[in-house]
Amino acid sequence: MKTYGNFIANKWVDAVSGEQFGVFDPSTGIEFAKLARGAEEDVDLAVGAAREALAGEWGRLTATERGRILSRISAAVLRHVELLSELEARDVGKPLTQARADVVALARYFEFYGGAADKVHGDTIPYQNGFTVLTVYEPHGVTGHIIPWNYPMQILGRSLGAALAMGNAAVVKPAEEACLTILEFARIAEEEGLPAGAVNIVTGYGAEAGAALAGHPDINHISFTGSVRTGEMVQAAAARHAVPVTLELGGKSAQVVFADADIDRAVPFLVNAGIQNAGQTCSASSRILVERPVYEEVVARMSERYRALNVGPADRDLAVGPVVSQRQKAIVEGFLDDAVRDGLKVAAQGAVVDDAPAGGAYVAPTLLRDVPHEHRVVQEEIFGPVQVIMPFDDEEEAVRLANGTPYGLVCGIWTGDGGRQFRLARAVQAGQVFINNYGAGGGVELPFGGVKKSGHGREKGFEALYGFATMKTISVHHG
Ligand code: NAD
Repeated sequence: MKTYGNFIANKWVDAVSGEQFGVFDPSTGIEFAKLARGAEEDVDLAVGAAREALAGEWGRLTATERGRILSRISAAVLRHVELLSELEARDVGKPLTQARADVVALARYFEFYGGAADKVHGDTIPYQNGFTVLTVYEPHGVTGHIIPWNYPMQILGRSLGAALAMGNAAVVKPAEEACLTILEFARIAEEEGLPAGAVNIVTGYGAEAGAALAGHPDINHISFTGSVRTGEMVQAAAARHAVPVTLELGGKSAQVVFADADIDRAVPFLVNAGIQNAGQTCSASSRILVERPVYEEVVARMSERYRALNVGPADRDLAVGPVVSQRQKAIVEGFLDDAVRDGLKVAAQGAVVDDAPAGGAYVAPTLLRDVPHEHRVVQEEIFGPVQVIMPFDDEEEAVRLANGTPYGLVCGIWTGDGGRQFRLARAVQAGQVFINNYGAGGGVELPFGGVKKSGHGREKGFEALYGFATMKTISVHHG
């Protein structure tokens, strides 16, 4: 069975404790690799290696040189697209086409931030006579990156790409369910000339390696992507050392469909944004709100698509793969059991293929209709292939329902009325609003992040670079 160590200062090392934990294929339930069970001592070593990198070769590079390394890594990731996508499919159960899209996105992040590295600059500020005042952007120093299991490569790319472009040295803690492509990425980055210590990866459990990173006294910034509960703990741990934190948390994002919308165009977006990655997407659109005159039509057209959805092993490359683990399957089924218990109506379901391996974590995609707004399937993030659809009567009600959860990540609005497009775009509580499209996080270029319980800070796009930097003001008195 293949075993992986931690990646510290460009070396593969076992956990200090010597302990390991297993990697299971969600399509079959079979264990196929072992990982280092990193903990506090390993995080210490990784932070130390990052600190040395800042004082050494990595810290001496110009922004242009850093950008060139990132660009080379981007090209190399694309050359390894088959290796990485097959590994991802096996590790997290992602159908191959979706896994390939993640590899391409990882490469694109490094391309974007490679190009952006030497384009961040400060200002000069008019001040008193005899002074010249300028601002410069400097890296935080050592940045910690805590990554979830749903899009490991994409989320690594978006936070690590921006952090490295700004000259930080990083310590990455992947989710315990999704380490392999991140470790393989490290191998690729090293081959492309990434100086030792610029990126360090410690695998392990959240409560051990993750908590050690979040509370480390010598970390200068934490980028956390994951659940609200863990995000709040990470922020509290970092606060003990006044360390700034970016939180990219969960969502319960709505798409709002008005009667004048182009329904033909909308319907594929409505469904795909709910079932992509088996619904395990922070920016999944798990709530569909439809103006009453077209409600039954939209329910019928979405139902037709649901009935055609097949769920099966990742290597079969169907529309929907397994969820990441038996644990996640039990969580999603718990929501569906509550829906049945409370008499909620199922509009339509997809089907698990007959020959799916018995040990796989399969859940049939489910569209629930006419659900009371207070029900937990409407209010809580399910993180599985489950959507709810409900009618509304006017614009005011649409905004109230769209904003009526603790989250605020993304919102989609479908209408041909230009005034309404802008009114709603401004009225909804979300970090991203899509009009007549839905991006589930959107492109690499688009700043992304939440309001309310969906978190704070922005990643992606040029904006992310400022989050991975600190501004210094220099006031020169020259008389
Ligand atoms: P999670 O919060 O359970 O885990 C996320 C990461 O935190 C993992 O690496 C985990 O090991 C680590 N962790 C766990 N306990 C920790 C602790 N005490 N201290 C420090 N680190 C700890 O989330 P998950 O189940 O891996 O991911 C799913 C969640 O992530 C969903 O809520 C989803 O919406 C969210 N998510 C958000 C975004 C976004 O950009 N907003 C993107 C992807 C996923």
